[in-house]
Amino acid sequence: MLRLTFLGTSAAQPTIGRNLSGLAIRRERELFLVDCGEGTQRQMTKYATGFDVAAICFTHMHLDHWLGVVGFLRTLSMQERPEPLDLYGPRGLSRMVERYMAGPVERLSFDLRVQEVVPGERIRRDGCDLVPFATHHGVPSVGWALVEDARPGRFHPDRAAALGVEEGPMFGALQHGKAVTLPSGRVVTPLEVLDPPRPGRKVVVTGDTRPCQATVDVSRAADLLIHDSTFGDAEAERAVQTDHTTAREAGRLAREAGVARLVLTHLSTRYDRDPETLLAQAREEFGEVSVAHDGLTLEVPLLG
Ligand SMILES: [Zn+2]
Ligand SMILES: [Zn+2]
Repeated sequence: MLRLTFLGTSAAQPTIGRNLSGLAIRRERELFLVDCGEGTQRQMTKYATGFDVAAICFTHMHLDHWLGVVGFLRTLSMQERPEPLDLYGPRGLSRMVERYMAGPVERLSFDLRVQEVVPGERIRRDGCDLVPFATHHGVPSVGWALVEDARPGRFHPDRAAALGVEEGPMFGALQHGKAVTLPSGRVVTPLEVLDPPRPGRKVVVTGDTRPCQATVDVSRAADLLIHDSTFGDAEAERAVQTDHTTAREAGRLAREAGVARLVLTHLSTRYDRDPETLLAQAREEFGEVSVAHDGLTLEVPLLG
């Protein structure tokens, strides 16, 4: 399973219909958040994501992207959560935690593990890596890519049988990439009975940023790109001044990177009720695009 739920899709201030930034990503047994704006925990309740968060990945330390974490951690502590929680983010994360969480959150019922990351490192999780990449937002910032491990290639039982492997535990071992030894002494390797490995899924979340090369590079052949799309053509100048991206620019970048699908988010309040303008402008550049709304849930299917 790889399921994303948009918890907040508004830039800078919340509106009646849109909360501040937050995205839940559930992959198999682990739940991740990317950013945690004010009100995120209520959105998690409303959209039933569960509270069993394993890690929160921050894109940058602008207030509208993290203020919700203070209250959320307090709730987890009141529920006497025992499991440690990982916080990952760019430079400034540790200072924020020291300043704002030591006081108001009192003592937590669990370990808070805080890690400031640098672009390009890979954070190992269960069956996938979380990969921070450089973005351009005028303050220390990163985007996040979730990159699944490659899956073993398709297994061909007929080939295994032809080599003399009996159906049973040896089939299982070969499917998991382990060589087996037949009673005759002949060793059968996975290469003989499996197709080449198939790439896992890849989801990229930019956070706030100008369009940049690192996003293109990390997004090559991604299943899903979630990009800053704060403004439309009419505010192209303003997008440059405030280090954000227009819908059209996001569309162009998606095309260049060859992603399967683009979702626009972090909308300026002026597009709150009418995101169609942004959608139309992005669509002139890239066909497979939609605009996020709070509560939007997307499943990323396994292909092949
Ligand atoms: Zn923002
Ligand atoms: Zn920002």
